[in-house]
Amino acid sequence: MKRAIYLDYAATTPARPEVVEAMLPYFTEVFGNPSSIYSCGQEARGAVEEARGKVAALIGAGHDELVFTSGGTEADNFAFKGVAHARESKGNHIITTPIEHHAVLETCKFLEKRGFQVTYLPVDQYGMVDPDDVRKAITSKTILISVMHANNEVGTIEPLAEISKIAREAGVYFHTDAVQTTGHIPANVNELGVDLLSISAHKLYGPKGVGALYIRKGTRLVSFMHGGEQESRRRAGTENVPSIAGFGRAAELAGQDMSEEAQRLTLLRDRLINGLSERIESIHLNGHPTKRLPNNVSVTFDFVEGESICLNLDLEGICSSTGSACSSSSLEPSHVLLAMGVPREQAHGSLRFTLGKWTTDEDIDSVLEVVPRVIGKLRAMSPLFKGR
Ligand code: PLP
Repeated sequence: MKRAIYLDYAATTPARPEVVEAMLPYFTEVFGNPSSIYSCGQEARGAVEEARGKVAALIGAGHDELVFTSGGTEADNFAFKGVAHARESKGNHIITTPIEHHAVLETCKFLEKRGFQVTYLPVDQYGMVDPDDVRKAITSKTILISVMHANNEVGTIEPLAEISKIAREAGVYFHTDAVQTTGHIPANVNELGVDLLSISAHKLYGPKGVGALYIRKGTRLVSFMHGGEQESRRRAGTENVPSIAGFGRAAELAGQDMSEEAQRLTLLRDRLINGLSERIESIHLNGHPTKRLPNNVSVTFDFVEGESICLNLDLEGICSSTGSACSSSSLEPSHVLLAMGVPREQAHGSLRFTLGKWTTDEDIDSVLEVVPRVIGKLRAMSPLFKGR
């Protein structure tokens, strides 16, 4: 059977073989509880701390500034709820953007129901935040600003270093969701100037169900998992040792490969964008033309539905994604595209290809052959296209 062409690396990545190898001993041979004082437990503790060092090194953090979580969603929840509860007496105002992942947006909704006020900053046609808008939105009650490092749907990279200066001057904590950037482009906490940063292992060729929150030394945060004393009392629960070991290895490998891989993917990405634009009429690139993730190709095809394209491409062995997620029952267009001012009908025709470690030149050739054919077929059946 022909190998499927997987172009949905932003949804998840396969674990690298080296990562799986690094995890295996901790299921069986070194299965001890890291909190146990005998040697099998202490060996597991050693693995957790070694992994912490590797993930911390990837983002330029100190060893004790990293808390392991169950993934990006938990890291985002921890940052928002942790700051909200720690700083309640100072204020109840949070600033974020309407293009964040649902892990942030739903947490904001939860906090809004409990008396917090959230300002959603505008974004421009590329999904870019204007740092001046951040400055204007700050009030005496602002306790947290959160802007994602790069958007998961359209790939736009946000001007975090400029925003963090504004946050620092105002004495407001600054969080970023760096789930799509860590291990792919530099995400150094000191260069970005962030106090809190969320990471997820399964986006950087690590296992699913593990991630981390970077917490700058001195940042006050209330824990929301209560129980044992793990993670310096910041996140209770027996550590997921095999996954943490795999996360550490993935972070180490990502640090070694990052710049070369980013260059390789940028070339493939641009070949795909240009090739699609040359072969298909009425197509639009979503997101910033240059300040975008090296692996992201988000496009909108007029007169066709993203879901239909995605399902037809699946039949041809190509895995892609729509803003509203192929698997989801919701037919609402992407909240990200709508916030960028893309008209609803147009937003329905969006499709995302995200490239990764196993994407080859031949894969791009195949996509450039199949996609124009699929779009042609769907448009031939589209009353909107015929009646234009
Ligand atoms: N934040 C962003 C930007 C994401 O893309 C994702 C996952 O798609 C998450 C958070 C959630 O991460 P996790 O799947 O590890 O919970």
